[in-house]
Amino acid sequence: MSENDKTDQKDVTAAESISTAKIHPIVKYPDPVLMRKGAAVTDFGPNLAQFVEEMWASMYAAHGIGLAAPQIGVSKRITVIDANFKEKPEEKLVLINPEIVEREGRSFEEEGCLSLPEIRDKVHRAARVKVRAQDVNGEWFEVEGVELRGRAIQHEIDHLDGILFIDRLSALKRDLAKRKIRKLQKSGQW
Ligand code: ZN
Repeated sequence: MSENDKTDQKDVTAAESISTAKIHPIVKYPDPVLMRKGAAVTDFGPNLAQFVEEMWASMYAAHGIGLAAPQIGVSKRITVIDANFKEKPEEKLVLINPEIVEREGRSFEEEGCLSLPEIRDKVHRAARVKVRAQDVNGEWFEVEGVELRGRAIQHEIDHLDGILFIDRLSALKRDLAKRKIRKLQKSGQW
């Protein structure tokens, strides 16, 4: 997910200058990797931890609050989420092979996506979710998410299944979004 428009853009330059993790470019719609179901992670070696660091660096560089591996061109079930954008490090999440095991209530709020720049719309989601996932060492854990973090969890897990938030809009709104994207593509802004 992209940072909420209302949130102040934080200065990430200082943090990036001390990080050595590679920053990957963000893949944009309609790249086919975004429509593909990601493969389960089976190798929990040091390369995975390094790749997760690269995901964090790439997400922060793009001012995102969540990033799924397919968004940097890697079709694997890995996502990183920091709904508070560096304000509450204890709430940061690395979800590997995540699965939503509980959903409760409803929420209808605006979303954006790093792979769909300038497109924002309200999306129906569960108000609270519980997720089961593995960490970088392969240990299973469960975590709950509400509000923006809960929304980000659902948005990012959708990416691992090849689903974009515009797929969850009404046909009319999806067509409007696609028209806007075509316009941006034509003017070279995509
Ligand atoms: Zn997204």
